[in-house]
Amino acid sequence: MRRKLVVGNWKMNGNIKSNRTLLNAIVQGLQTYNNADYVVCVPAPYLFQARLILKNTNIAWGGQNVNQFEHGALTGAVAPHMLTDLGCTFVLIGHSERRLLFHETNTTTSASFGAAISAGMTPILCIGETLAELKAGQTEAVLAKQIDSVMLNLNANEFAKAMQLNMVFAYEPVWAVGAKKSATPERVQSVHKFIRQHIAQHNPEAATQVRILYGGSVNSKNAGSLFVMPDVDGGLIGGASLTADEFIAICQLAN
Ligand code: PEP
Repeated sequence: MRRKLVVGNWKMNGNIKSNRTLLNAIVQGLQTYNNADYVVCVPAPYLFQARLILKNTNIAWGGQNVNQFEHGALTGAVAPHMLTDLGCTFVLIGHSERRLLFHETNTTTSASFGAAISAGMTPILCIGETLAELKAGQTEAVLAKQIDSVMLNLNANEFAKAMQLNMVFAYEPVWAVGAKKSATPERVQSVHKFIRQHIAQHNPEAATQVRILYGGSVNSKNAGSLFVMPDVDGGLIGGASLTADEFIAICQLAN
């Protein structure tokens, strides 16, 4: 049985005061819900604050992105050891906003995935097709390429470490992210089944072990019908993770 995982992605939102209110509310709302795992991926400047508030709770915190290098002349970048210094145990890799707005590619994403593993963080690999790719019937080809570029970049030791760290995949159709309209549970299930089968081609054990999250306009009204699908192991939540009641309700539904 895979344990459900709910990850909040705050994107570029929040400030010290609003974060404090939100994090404290989440801690309180989830303190007796111990049948699922929870993570909040907050903007890098607030990871220190997240650590202060979330330490010794049942909620982990993580980065929204990580650079493939440990140090160097890379203005604005965040190195893997900086995230682990701040207690991050998870990191998003290849979010569609990073790919589309910051021109990250399957190559840079694969390098960041490897760097996250080397640093001992659980990578959450975001994959998904754009609307144009959906309309062109390219969903499976796009996902396969995104998965393969990362899996083929890992040597046997790195793959074993990725398994130990329980690497996570997040299917986020780009057309559903921030769109206020989620993909249907049936469609999500069929895509997740494809993703699991595709991972099995690389490693059958990984396919049964990895958690595949769905992301794209998940809220407290649709989360329940998504989470009951057999290959949906939780959610990656953007907008709804900024409202305490919504995020808590979604996390509770994962229990
Ligand atoms: C996301 O940012 O990963 C996301 C899924 O956003 P939203 O829930 O707002 O669609």
